[in-house]
Amino acid sequence: MITTGNDNKPAIRFDLIAQEGEARAGVLTTRRGEIETPVFMPVGTAGTVKGIRFEELESEELDPKIILGNTYHLWLRPGIETIRECGGLHKFIGWQRALLTDSGGFQVWSLGALRKIDEEGTHFRSHVDGSAQFLSPEISMEVQAALGSEIVMAFDECAPGNATHEETLKSMSLTSRWAKRSRTRFDQLQGEGADTGRAVTTNCLSGAQAIFGIVQGASHLSLRRESLAQTVEIGFDGYALGGLSVGEEKPVMFEVIREIAPVMPADRPRYLMGIGTPEDLIDAVAAGIDMFDCVLPTRNGRTGQAFTSSGKLNIKNAQWAKDSRPIDELCNCSVCRRHSRAYLRHLYLSGEMLASILLTHHNLAFFLDTMRAVRQSIRSGVFHKFRREFTERLNANGE
Ligand SMILES: [Zn+2]
Repeated sequence: MITTGNDNKPAIRFDLIAQEGEARAGVLTTRRGEIETPVFMPVGTAGTVKGIRFEELESEELDPKIILGNTYHLWLRPGIETIRECGGLHKFIGWQRALLTDSGGFQVWSLGALRKIDEEGTHFRSHVDGSAQFLSPEISMEVQAALGSEIVMAFDECAPGNATHEETLKSMSLTSRWAKRSRTRFDQLQGEGADTGRAVTTNCLSGAQAIFGIVQGASHLSLRRESLAQTVEIGFDGYALGGLSVGEEKPVMFEVIREIAPVMPADRPRYLMGIGTPEDLIDAVAAGIDMFDCVLPTRNGRTGQAFTSSGKLNIKNAQWAKDSRPIDELCNCSVCRRHSRAYLRHLYLSGEMLASILLTHHNLAFFLDTMRAVRQSIRSGVFHKFRREFTERLNANGE
């Protein structure tokens, strides 16, 4: 049982339903409903999953049970006082299902030359107005309590994918000290009732927020194992693999995932942060990952790129000019049922906003459908067959 907060009930519950090799199918119960895993969480950076209305997101063909919010973006704009006064993030944006918020650590780290990291936290310049800002584990926990997300992420520091052993060790040790400070401040805030999303639940949960710890260590497996041990020692409701897809080669990234995911605590959800393509998701599921988020379906949708069962499709290509087929002939989403490649290409080249909206919709449908099929295949004991067929279809065409 996972326990957070000042009563003995857990903040979340994680039940494994089926396992095939390392691949797991489970149910993550939160104060705002059940989430079947493995799960893909669409990214709602600034309180919106870009290019799609919440009604559509909630419709049966998409239907994610959880989305992400970004602490860094929401903290800088509209600001935490505004969100708190509007009743927390769920109420502010009009989304009653579960939310996971990141800690802001990665966004601040991505600012590169614009930030300076010391023991206390990170000093940086706001990308919104250039003002001097400071983010620390304590502040991140305060912001995430005000947002009222179901799952809070510890504040971490990321080392670049090609960081040396020495640099990585330094960064990882800082992440570990910050994880402790995150945990301490998180517990205080739960005790003080600072969580705006606190709910009365009927499912034997405490109604409080849950907090996940983050494993760092770049591509150094020994440091990854050390980081995992330190994070588990502090104790979290779930564990994430962070600091991947930050400049290292893909085989290196998958070596870390394959070595570390299976030894992460089996009774807690395992979350791979910020990754990846549909085939990456399936490969990581095979290593024992339960949760994913990525901007690819929404971001690539806005730049004219569609994900399909036979690989990526660039809608700008002249070869689609008179093509009456849907983006993906195997996709049953409303965009593929109604519109042709020729029409979508025309919209994109004309700069029509509907191009982004329709491509985003299809891409989200494709990611979410793929994960539905992954869950079903694990539950039926045919995941490895599903994975092989998915890969074969993808490689049969390949743009
Ligand atoms: Zn579609």
